[in-house]
Amino acid sequence: MVVSYSHHAQETSVYQTALAQYDRAASHLNLDPSIAEFLRYPRREFTVNFPVKRDDGTMEMFTGYRVHHSTVLGPSKGGLRYSTAVTLDEVRALAMWMTWKCALVNIPYGGAKGGVIVDPKTLSQGELERLTRRYAAELLPLISPHSDIPAPDMGTNPQIMAWIMDTYSMTVGYSVPAIVTGKPVNIGGSLGRNEATGRGVIACMMEALQGHGSGKKPGDTTLVIQGFGNVGANAAAFAYSLGFKVVAVSDIKSGLYNPKGLDIPALRNYVAETGYLSGSALGDEVTNSELLTLPCDVLIPAAMEGQITEKNADRIQARMIVEGANGPTTPEADDILNERGIFLVPDILANAGGVVVSYFEWVQDLQRFFWDEDEVYRQLQRAMARSYDNTEQTSEEFGVDMRTAAQILAIKRVAAAVETRGIYP
Ligand code: NAD
Repeated sequence: MVVSYSHHAQETSVYQTALAQYDRAASHLNLDPSIAEFLRYPRREFTVNFPVKRDDGTMEMFTGYRVHHSTVLGPSKGGLRYSTAVTLDEVRALAMWMTWKCALVNIPYGGAKGGVIVDPKTLSQGELERLTRRYAAELLPLISPHSDIPAPDMGTNPQIMAWIMDTYSMTVGYSVPAIVTGKPVNIGGSLGRNEATGRGVIACMMEALQGHGSGKKPGDTTLVIQGFGNVGANAAAFAYSLGFKVVAVSDIKSGLYNPKGLDIPALRNYVAETGYLSGSALGDEVTNSELLTLPCDVLIPAAMEGQITEKNADRIQARMIVEGANGPTTPEADDILNERGIFLVPDILANAGGVVVSYFEWVQDLQRFFWDEDEVYRQLQRAMARSYDNTEQTSEEFGVDMRTAAQILAIKRVAAAVETRGIYP
């Protein structure tokens, strides 16, 4: 496959979305052109093809990736995705966004991402464990607590992180909790990590409502959330606990709408039992595309990239969008939303709570000194509020939207570090 890093390439891809955003932000900075070019490329890309034994004794081949976009500010950090939609192009884009996210929230990490082309729901627990352990073993040349630290993303969870931690530890001969974040707490995970991304999304939403909301009380503020996994369900639960009215949520199969507000705890119990939202009597069924254009105050896409495009951006009724997912909005849709005056809090800011608490987890593992939950949430809140303020200030200073502002801040920091370190050799 020919890989094109040019924004003139013919097919639109997720990486081209990431590059278009980068180019848009970089044009506001007086960067050394060679550094500007350097930052458009992923540092390394790794493809692995590996066999997994199925329960019936047959063997199946799987393909996985790990991309390091940048290691300028520190070891690379980023999640692992298990999905049939995984492509090298997607992983490359997600790795680049991790670079900007870590720089934006000022944590000493570069950006990475990984993925395996698989629908985890089609595997038994045993098959999932064997696939994860073999993929982890294939990644050994790249990962370590000092070079590259994976975490959960779509389709992966704390148990999968535990198997990766165990595989790595068995290989080196001693326990290395700091090899992954998002682990269960009993093997070195951090309190609050599981909820961190969703809570951070809502923390950002509240910051944004202060300056850009209509002054409504939480009980009158309606939220629509696409995706009911780690990010979406935790955002919904936190918002619900604060008194916001979550009127619609969805998963890959379908959405659920109740204009009076959904009972989120009951819905989480239902999904824990049945696996999906579909069939619940707590609301009326809607499709994912209908969900995005429902009337609401805040729309939170928290499923996957490429959901808000030029095809539906003019029909979105929300006054504010807070991006829980990575890359849910295309650059064309950004233009339409900006024109329509819809205020958008971008992914690298809004969903950074996950990597912030992942960083806390890694620090706790390295120091073997663990914090209580209050401390985690206090530090998370501080990091999100500070990053939000910095982004808003940059947005005012440069006269640009919040996405461009967040990218400007992040690119500026990474480019400055490249300049300070110099180009090797
Ligand atoms: P998850 O697997 O826990 O949940 C994903 C949810 O989205 C599920 O409800 C799934 O059914 C739904 N979904 C999947 N494909 C869909 C589609 N095509 N249309 C509608 N719904 C669909 O994943 P997650 O960890 O919650 O991640 C969701 C998004 O948030 C991803 O973009 C991910 O990169 C991003 N993110 C996750 C974290 C984290 O800490 N987990 C941190 C930052 C960003």
